[in-house]
Amino acid sequence: MHLTHLACTACAQEHDASVPQNVCTACGKPLYPQYDLAAAGRTLTKAALAARVKSLWRYREVLPVRSDADIVTLGEGLTPLLSAPRLAAKHGLAKLFIKDESLNPTQSFKARGMSTAVSMAKQFGLKKLAAPSAGNAGGALAAYAARAGIEAHIFMPADTPRANVIECRELGAHVTLINGLITDCGAEVAKRKAAEGWFDVSTLKEPYRVEGKKTLGYELAEQLDWTLPDVVLYPTGGGTGLVGMWKAFDEMERLGWIGPKRPRMFSVQASGCQPIVRAFSAGEKFAAEHIGASTKASGLRVPKAIGDFIMLDILRKSGGGAVAVTDEEMIAGVREVGAAEGLFVAPEGAATYAALKHLLATKTVGPDESVVLFNTGAGVKYLECFGG
Ligand SMILES: *Cc1c(COP(=O)(O)O)cnc(C)c1O
Ligand SMILES: [Zn+2]
Repeated sequence: MHLTHLACTACAQEHDASVPQNVCTACGKPLYPQYDLAAAGRTLTKAALAARVKSLWRYREVLPVRSDADIVTLGEGLTPLLSAPRLAAKHGLAKLFIKDESLNPTQSFKARGMSTAVSMAKQFGLKKLAAPSAGNAGGALAAYAARAGIEAHIFMPADTPRANVIECRELGAHVTLINGLITDCGAEVAKRKAAEGWFDVSTLKEPYRVEGKKTLGYELAEQLDWTLPDVVLYPTGGGTGLVGMWKAFDEMERLGWIGPKRPRMFSVQASGCQPIVRAFSAGEKFAAEHIGASTKASGLRVPKAIGDFIMLDILRKSGGGAVAVTDEEMIAGVREVGAAEGLFVAPEGAATYAALKHLLATKTVGPDESVVLFNTGAGVKYLECFGG
């Protein structure tokens, strides 16, 4: 609503937000939407939120769409931040929470980003959207595109969980399976988009998905009564949620809602695909592609992310880190979280629990710290991962 322009995350070059944009035209890095926060803060107040819609659109002033008529919504966001008392007791933790993103439309947090991205596509009058997907992004794009009456062209690895592929088809999307990884799917979109007239909505190559995902940060603060947790564990693929939350913290500080204190941010990856973990421990600014990427947690099978440098910077600035866990640890974690707390989490969500155990064992995280785990998706979409 109070969107002013787009700014490059690497070279700060400004771009016009009144026309469709992808990456920075000068350096090829992601663009971030910028707002007139002084104007936004005149109507977006903590008190005003009480009467607002129970979706991420409650933060309307810091979301990009110009006119309410272009909002494409299925009720995404404002998911529960559940306490996890039985797991907390097991590990001697004072405060442990699980943000349950499986309750979003299409059962994952990808709904947040696709709601804002498809709304902007509608505002711009775009007719055909395309994206590579490791699984859940495809389902979310298919749903919001259907809702907006826009075509969706989705490219997925052939071994993507079946539920994601079927979901995309039943939501009316055009699905192409590729023998390769999400990076190969992205290359296919890039190669064909000009001739086909597709607009590319890949993670962070489209400036507005991050705006939907940043609302995770607004919700954390609102649900914790305008404080932030000490530690956040986030299962990382392209990293949009992690960088989005950090953007939200910054905006909220400028709105006068929170102080300068930030959570320690930890990126959790699979041992079979851990470009961020490797780059973090090597002290590198960018992450080299992880060759031969393999993990059952399809959302984490992202061997190369365009937002790598933004993530690495946040992990370091926040005093956090990066942790890899094995598929066996994740799958065991699904049952441990499920049996203790009654949530059938995605392997990606269980990965954060497995990573927490490592961080507690090495005393990187202490028992008095408040910890938030992100369950980014639903276990029912990954039936292939579990024994019959
Ligand atoms: C996409 C996805 C992730 C990774 O999210 P990014 O924001 O791309 O890092 C994690 N978990 C699930 C279930 C996903 O679908
Ligand atoms: Zn740039």
